[in-house]
Amino acid sequence: MKRDFVSPLVKSLPPSGIRRFFDLVAEMDDVVSLGIGEPDFVTPWRIREAAIHSLKQGYTMYTSNQGLPELRKAISDYWFERRGIRYDYRREILITVGVSEALDLLMRAVLSPGDEVIMAEPSYVSYQPTVLLAGGVPRTVPTTLEDGFQLKAAAIEKVITDRTKVILLCSPNNPTGVTLQREVLADIARLAVKYDLLVVADEIYCELVYDEDYVSISQMPGMVDRVIVLNGFSKAFAMTGWRLGYAMGREDVIAAMNKIHQYTMLCASITSQKAALEALRNGQRDREDMHQQYSERRRLIVHGLNEMGLDCLLPQGAFYVFPSIRATGLDSETFCERLLKEEKVAVVPGTAFGASGEGFVRCSYAASIAEIQEALTRMERFVRRYRRGACASSEGV
Ligand code: PLP
Repeated sequence: MKRDFVSPLVKSLPPSGIRRFFDLVAEMDDVVSLGIGEPDFVTPWRIREAAIHSLKQGYTMYTSNQGLPELRKAISDYWFERRGIRYDYRREILITVGVSEALDLLMRAVLSPGDEVIMAEPSYVSYQPTVLLAGGVPRTVPTTLEDGFQLKAAAIEKVITDRTKVILLCSPNNPTGVTLQREVLADIARLAVKYDLLVVADEIYCELVYDEDYVSISQMPGMVDRVIVLNGFSKAFAMTGWRLGYAMGREDVIAAMNKIHQYTMLCASITSQKAALEALRNGQRDREDMHQQYSERRRLIVHGLNEMGLDCLLPQGAFYVFPSIRATGLDSETFCERLLKEEKVAVVPGTAFGASGEGFVRCSYAASIAEIQEALTRMERFVRRYRRGACASSEGV
């Protein structure tokens, strides 16, 4: 018999619910996709041009493990201007290959086997696997539509044990688009102090908020030293393919992350770092233009979904809406599979983000107005069919 080389831990990880679904989409024509979690914009030209220019100048080598000092300095200035928090670019910032790498490094840098990480559910698909691969134990706290998908400190406190080490926050959240309110963050901050926990704040969508200014948990009194902020260029600057992110926070954790990074990744791509520098220095107008377009699309899609009877909060951030599909009487997987087969619209089952995503689907509005309108027309037809079906079957009982 052939020897089985694959580790049981890796085998035990479920495949991403999003990928499985998009394998189906790939085989079909004429699909309108509201499924993808990445900007539909091409990276702004000035940023691409800066990268091309850097190549022409011969910047093709490794950088320091921590990343280009001028990029770290620019990140430090950027957040000082916006939040009044000054991270020391020499010791408190690490450039990574996306927030994805930063998350992985963080978990491996702080967790010992059996340490627990608390996170909201539904939440981003990579969180639980990243914790598990680092030997940690994910502890999920369900959030609900009725509570506005806010992650309440009281619910967190119930799952704290003497093995809890980290609270992982995502605001604005993928898949719900919800930002954590100031008072919710203040309560979580108090809890972190009370139980001496590290907070990891995934803020990759923080520049895509629409109605209010963004509040970071790192701005809560006494929290700077207890929060590692993860951020990157993928979403705000439409740079997913450049794979560039960073971690900011206390020196000991950043140094530990850098230790793993230097052996496993060495550094992020110099071309991407040069491009990111241009994004921070001169990319604000482009970022604001894209922001404006997301804002218009958000209103269109939320209005359309609510009109057809799929209850939906007005999300404060990111480019996702998370409507309830209960009115159709279908579960999330069936809804998505039938919507794809019958109307050729791709959305993602809420259950891809954890069991409490049942009864919801994630629709991304990182799509053109014309695509969103077409998707809404098709979805409206689909929902009308199933709403009637649901009524007919309940009348028949
Ligand atoms: N965090 C969240 C919440 C995300 O939604 C994503 C991508 O979809 C990431 C992190 C990954 O970001 P990056 O492209 O910087 O690796």
